[in-house]
Amino acid sequence: MRTVLYPGSFDPVTVGHVDIIARAAAAFDRVVVGVLHNPHKPTSAFSVEDRLSMLRDATAGFANVTIAAYAGLLVDIAHSAGVDGVVRGLRMASDFDVEMQMARLNRQTRGVETVFFAASPEVAHISSKWVRDIGRLNGSLRGLVPEAVRQRIEQHLAGTDIRRGIHG
Ligand code: ADP
Repeated sequence: MRTVLYPGSFDPVTVGHVDIIARAAAAFDRVVVGVLHNPHKPTSAFSVEDRLSMLRDATAGFANVTIAAYAGLLVDIAHSAGVDGVVRGLRMASDFDVEMQMARLNRQTRGVETVFFAASPEVAHISSKWVRDIGRLNGSLRGLVPEAVRQRIEQHLAGTDIRRGIHG
């Protein structure tokens, strides 16, 4: 039984995340998608509950994928969740630099291995940050986030552009 943890902020989930989840679900027996959050730094656009619920809707078609929320250090979470390793997606060179350091630290400190999936070219440019920026300016998120949760994300983000002073 090979179980992997796919950790991230998923603020919100994008089609890039779902691409990694689908490929990990095909490669491993079980995938736990972990919404990592810091309860002392609630700076996210979406609440943890919203992120969990959107991930659940976006991954409803995968029988071997579960969704959970975690706080704390990734290596400790991986140990307590009893997973065999961690999955991460690599989009571009800037991801590589940071991810290599994290993967080495996680292996050195608690023997946690990381498996990388190369982002699919058709979604490699998509990040939660761009989704938030476009959504806050009332742009369409079609093709950027899973269709099952697109309207929810658009409605939540619409009109919350801080620069226009209508924070909400
Ligand atoms: P983001 O960087 O979009 O805010 P997260 O921090 O939640 O997303 O990222 C969780 C993991 O998903 C990371 O390993 C990240 O590299 C990967 N990831 C994010 N977007 C994509 C994408 N478009 N394609 C492949 N992997 C991605």
